[in-house]
Amino acid sequence: MDCIFCKIANKEIPKELVLENEELIAFDDIHPKTPVHILVVTKAHVASVKELENPELAGDMVMAAKKIAGEKNLDGYKLLFNVGREGGQEIDHLHLHLMGGK
Ligand code: 5GP
Ligand code: ZN
Repeated sequence: MDCIFCKIANKEIPKELVLENEELIAFDDIHPKTPVHILVVTKAHVASVKELENPELAGDMVMAAKKIAGEKNLDGYKLLFNVGREGGQEIDHLHLHLMGGK
């Protein structure tokens, strides 16, 4: 399967990671829309929130984003899941946008 986020997760495409644990990676968005714009991405290929079945994974993504926000000293920020084309999702591999900074 030709999935860019799977390739990053598998280290086929080298990428500086902001966070890595057993189930997640995080890295800078290539086209940042805010001063800090990081994507928290599942290592497993799940296409979107529509296909997500494990509630723990969603919780872990939010907690990972919160940890990164703390490390970046963000006072406030946005957490965003785009879901499906009509929801603005372009990459069909589950990811949470962490957006903030001044
Ligand atoms: P979506 O619209 O699917 O919620 O968000 C996809 C995000 O991935 C976009 O903000 C886009 O800038 C980012 N993106 C797309 N391709 C790449 C890539 O190859 N590397 C990185 N770091 N980000 C990417
Ligand atoms: Zn994938």
